[in-house]
Amino acid sequence: MKITIASDHGGVDLKAALVEFLAASGVQVEDAGPAGKDSCDYPDYAIKVAMAVAKGVSDFGVLICRSGIGMAMTANRFQSVRAAVCATVDGAVTTRQHNGANVLCLGADLISVDYAKEVLKAFIATPMDMSDRHARRREKLERSERLSDVSLLAGTDPEVFATIEAHTNQEETEINLIASENLASRACREAAGSVLMNKYAEGYPGRRWYSGCDPVDAAERLAIARAKELFGAEHVNVQPHGGSAANMAVYFAVLNPGDTIMSMALDQGGHLSHGSPVNFSGKIYNIVPYSVDPKTEMLDYDALERQALEVRPKLLVAGASAYPRVIDFRRIREICDRAGCMMMVDMAHIAGLVAGGAHPSPVPYADFVTSTTHKTLCGPRGGIVLCREKYAKALDAAVFPGMQGGPLENIIAAKAVCFREWLDGTKAGYAEQVVKNCRVMCKTVQDRGYRIVSGGTDNHLFLIDIKASKGISGKVASAALDAAGIVTNKNAIPYDTESPFQTSGVRAGTASVTTRGMREAEMIKIGTWIADVLDDVTNTSVQERVKREARELALRFPAP
Ligand SMILES: *Cc1c(COP(=O)(O)O)cnc(C)c1O
Repeated sequence: MKITIASDHGGVDLKAALVEFLAASGVQVEDAGPAGKDSCDYPDYAIKVAMAVAKGVSDFGVLICRSGIGMAMTANRFQSVRAAVCATVDGAVTTRQHNGANVLCLGADLISVDYAKEVLKAFIATPMDMSDRHARRREKLERSERLSDVSLLAGTDPEVFATIEAHTNQEETEINLIASENLASRACREAAGSVLMNKYAEGYPGRRWYSGCDPVDAAERLAIARAKELFGAEHVNVQPHGGSAANMAVYFAVLNPGDTIMSMALDQGGHLSHGSPVNFSGKIYNIVPYSVDPKTEMLDYDALERQALEVRPKLLVAGASAYPRVIDFRRIREICDRAGCMMMVDMAHIAGLVAGGAHPSPVPYADFVTSTTHKTLCGPRGGIVLCREKYAKALDAAVFPGMQGGPLENIIAAKAVCFREWLDGTKAGYAEQVVKNCRVMCKTVQDRGYRIVSGGTDNHLFLIDIKASKGISGKVASAALDAAGIVTNKNAIPYDTESPFQTSGVRAGTASVTTRGMREAEMIKIGTWIADVLDDVTNTSVQERVKREARELALRFPAP
């Protein structure tokens, strides 16, 4: 056991006695000061101890001032620190059992040295009470940061605070099945909201246009090194602000205006930035869309090869926003080689499945792999590009100065945090569970008579053909689900006859609910609710019942 202890000038004598007492009891004790009785400021010492506990380098902290109160106030501002002022042995035992206190604060003026030893002994010897009610309360205590983090805003800018409060409430009470969304970890959000946002850092680590970039250089190098390791990439650029920007960077790196790109059509599952006429990609380049097979609604690689040989594009783009099946990247490489074109894979949706080994990786095959970091990858909102070394220079120049100015170093740091969570085992089993959950939910809906595009799913999303199943549009269906507390989105399906505003499909995904810890049993419940609501979208009493039950379920699986 390791304990870090500190005091202010008023607690130096008691501290010395307790250091001796702990050392004699065989505890590893770190005295964080002060050494003498010169007047000093208690927060300076409370911060040292709180950081030791927050970092996990100490099991417990001890803080002493005249009352113990200022120390506790400071220490309790730190995440995962629970500091308690104790004047009695009973108090120490209770706060350990109930609150799981990990920092003991003592008032040197209020307690004798001998009794302080008894209190400290009881504090470190008492285990936490693991019963449901106390565990639940401790968890609520920890999770109060979702609002306490923005509580300054509540006073200074109530209007903006209200929006964050409303979204917090929404995350906690709704079942979110939007396939492109996820819930980033608390650690990711900390990095994203950090002071790194204040730094201008045009350029790349070691080659910046501004001074003072050492800390952000280190953050960006971490993000790059971790992304390389995670995906086995030769070169990585972590600066793109989003997935569309990542795609733009690749196009700018290797194409000229008017060059031909072959990509999956938007209504077939592709993305706006793959060449939609309303997007820059469709305006600048000559786009030749490819489609899925009308019968199987899956990619027909032989047909794709025939088309590529005829079109001879400069770049073939694989990857999609609404394709529920595994993509055979090895086969696409073969096609690109035969057609003599470069291969880009946009793995925005499946990056987390690739990172977690639940979908084959495109990295060994593609010249460029682009991605968002906020979908199944579960990081901050942003983009990355992975490429072969031979394209490194062209790619980096395309991002900066080609299309972006200063990178968002706070977001880059959050990307680094996200990559680490995949590398260090924090997300072990997640990707596989996302896929398992999706299969189960999809099958539950399918078994209730709904037509599923391509007959099922291999990844994190599935598409219900609601037009064929019930004769209503995706817009009407997703609105009914919304009213029942289940958030999906209307989505075009292959060869859709409805407009993009109506659509024939509803898209649902399991990334977000899996992050909350839901498993197969919950998927069956949610799938059943989806079918209950869609069976009759005009039945508001079903919607109200489902909304109540969905809310209860959501609250049992708190968002991080
Ligand atoms: C979501 C998505 C993107 C775009 O990401 P943004 O960060 O919104 O720009 C790009 N490509 C695909 C395939 C996507 O699904």
